[in-house]
Amino acid sequence: MDIYSDGARLLAGGQSLIAALNMRLDAPQVLIDLNGIGELVGIAQSNGRIRIGAMTRHADIENSALIAKTLPLLSQAAPLIAHPAIRNRGTFGGSLALADPAAEWPACCAALNAEIVLASRKGERRVRAGEFFNGLYETVRRSNELLVAVEFEPALPGERAVCRELAPRQGDYAWAGIAIQALVEGRTLRNLQLAFFGVGDRPVTAPHVVAVLEGQTVNSELLAAVRNALEQDIAPASDPQCTAEMRMHYAGVVLERAINDLLRNGGTE
Ligand code: FAD
Repeated sequence: MDIYSDGARLLAGGQSLIAALNMRLDAPQVLIDLNGIGELVGIAQSNGRIRIGAMTRHADIENSALIAKTLPLLSQAAPLIAHPAIRNRGTFGGSLALADPAAEWPACCAALNAEIVLASRKGERRVRAGEFFNGLYETVRRSNELLVAVEFEPALPGERAVCRELAPRQGDYAWAGIAIQALVEGRTLRNLQLAFFGVGDRPVTAPHVVAVLEGQTVNSELLAAVRNALEQDIAPASDPQCTAEMRMHYAGVVLERAINDLLRNGGTE
């Protein structure tokens, strides 16, 4: 990659890159196909951590028993990504490298503070998901770096996960969505980990919401306080798909629905 400077593009599932080339939004000098590199594919558990290779397809994550058991948030999120044909080709690493702010995987990684593994000829470096996304379709990945894998701490016993979104149609990118995981004790949520997608230029964590919710009994007064806190955490912009006011409203709706889902039964425990 180094020799092409910024003129090379890595081809993963091609579900976003090929569309961009078709529309002449990008015109790289060369394409480097990652599809033959077996080391970039797979889901494994070692030293208590779960590692997902960059070229692992969305569908493989959706259908993985290991992921369902250890990272229920990803199992919840996968079926919300596009359609089966796209999930069969699109890759975990491709989604993170693309950094669409309305995408599910970046928000899941930000919520769980996953570690993103980047490699170049100079060696390997690791970046927490919270620092990886830098803006609209921007990350801290350098042009000579390959995203090779992502590592996660598995969910603890009793932790539940929910991924909720509102989108124009099933399979479309979300107007607003949330990825959330918590330890549920009666009507109380602890160890809250969450991020919104579709409401900013990158995945958005919500520290004020977490501060209001963490360790408190969920009732109608608390939910009202949570909605107020949300206004301190997110400030969506208007675009041709949705006004800022509607996105704000949708974010509140998915948040409240996700909390209720967690209290009912959440994702796989
Ligand atoms: P590619 O298109 O091959 O690459 C995307 C970019 O990432 C390129 O710039 C490429 O160079 C770079 N790249 C890829 N892999 C690496 C790597 N390992 N290291 C460094 N750079 C890399 N996504 C969602 O999240 N939610 C949706 O609801 C959704 N809906 C969609 C609907 C449609 C109709 C389509 C066509 C796509 C949709 N997507 C959605 C996008 C889909 O998930 C893509 O698969 C994904 O965003 C990109 O993954 P890819 O493997 O296809 O990457």
